[in-house]
Amino acid sequence: MSTEQSAALFERARTVTPGGVNSPVRAFAAVGGTPRFMRSASGAWLTDVDGHDYVDLVCSWGPMLLGHAHPEVQAAIAAAIARGTSYGTPTEPEVELAEEIVSRTPAEQVRFVSSGTEATMSAIRLARGFTGRDVVVKFAGCYHGHVDSLLASAGSGVATLRGSQAHTPGRPLSVPGTAGVPAGSAAETIVLPYNDRDAVTEAFAQYGTRIACLVTEAVPGNMGVVPPAPGFNSFLAQTCREHGALFISDEVMTGFRATREGGWGLDGAIEGWVPDLMTFGKVMGGGFPAAAFGGRSDVMAHLAPEGPVYQAGTLSGNPIATTAGLATLQLATDEVYERLDATAATIRSAVAEALTAAGVPHVVQHAGTMFSVFFREGAVRDYSEAGAQDTATYAAFFHSMLDQGVYLPPSAFECWFVSAAHDDRAVSAILDALPSAATAAATA
Ligand code: PMP
Repeated sequence: MSTEQSAALFERARTVTPGGVNSPVRAFAAVGGTPRFMRSASGAWLTDVDGHDYVDLVCSWGPMLLGHAHPEVQAAIAAAIARGTSYGTPTEPEVELAEEIVSRTPAEQVRFVSSGTEATMSAIRLARGFTGRDVVVKFAGCYHGHVDSLLASAGSGVATLRGSQAHTPGRPLSVPGTAGVPAGSAAETIVLPYNDRDAVTEAFAQYGTRIACLVTEAVPGNMGVVPPAPGFNSFLAQTCREHGALFISDEVMTGFRATREGGWGLDGAIEGWVPDLMTFGKVMGGGFPAAAFGGRSDVMAHLAPEGPVYQAGTLSGNPIATTAGLATLQLATDEVYERLDATAATIRSAVAEALTAAGVPHVVQHAGTMFSVFFREGAVRDYSEAGAQDTATYAAFFHSMLDQGVYLPPSAFECWFVSAAHDDRAVSAILDALPSAATAAATA
């Protein structure tokens, strides 16, 4: 497959942009090869600058629930653009989108921002402002955007929490997970292993009076899909309540994607607990930079202009973005989710069948319509188990699929996303490519 035009653009891009990309995973660093520069997208398909078509299993990392360039969404966007692109005033579409989100989730109020990162950053500030406490608890392997305090790896605090040594007052709870994050930002973050109730109980026993909030992905999808053990989210909500901390459910990826009600639709809606705060992004922006945080109205009342916690944005609630998001959600009916479920199930079982036939160790995990494939055997319950997969095998599998016109996430640790536009032709193209990709994986 010729990648001449992509390679030429990548070369130019690297001169003017670090690594040639505006978000690291796009550079194909984990799988090698030339990142494909896309020229257009329609339905389930992407077209690159060399003229190759690919069935898209990334869907812009989640947002394109209905597929690319959905005619009704496009029409709504075109009509909105004709009325101007940004006014810096309140508008009707943002009220309608907020009403739609509030009607689907337990959030009583929402505030719009422009990225998932901004949403979690703001939710954490609000939780700190509301509780008057500083410490944040998160789980290893959960990604909440590039928020300083959430880019912490498990440092000395976790060793402390696991009982190996006593905590020294003033000693940081975690260390930064990247260069550029001040030690002080990570010092107030506790990182725990996912699905580990004992670790949560110990952390709250030791630091409970200092914990402002616990933030978790409703269903982790950023280490591959690692579903919460039954009752785990409910246990987290309960533990937070007992200690006066806020429970923040990050639904940037799962929101309006895992189910109609997001990740919460898989457990909270059934078990009857509600998060104090939630964050949203991706699908609710219809392919535009829009995100939100929301939750209990008594907590949200602490935000400016009603309350003392400052938060703002020039393009927050942008009329084009909120129009695109609203059109997307209005079209995302129960039938759409049924279709997504069926498509995802077909692909999941075909992948498992092809990898089994080729003798490649693997496990496919899912939550609602979200799924991912781990190239290792046995259930994956946390980040350390997710990390124990064979990334070289994934790279071989990925490239074989790519050569056959299927665009998978260029990393073994990402979720695979389907859209309502994945019709028989798109699904057949995926199914046809699987056996030789599985063989390539077996011989990697
Ligand atoms: N939270 C979660 C759960 C996410 O998956 C992401 C992005 N993948 C973010 C937050 C950050 O969103 P953004 O990339 O829009 O800043």
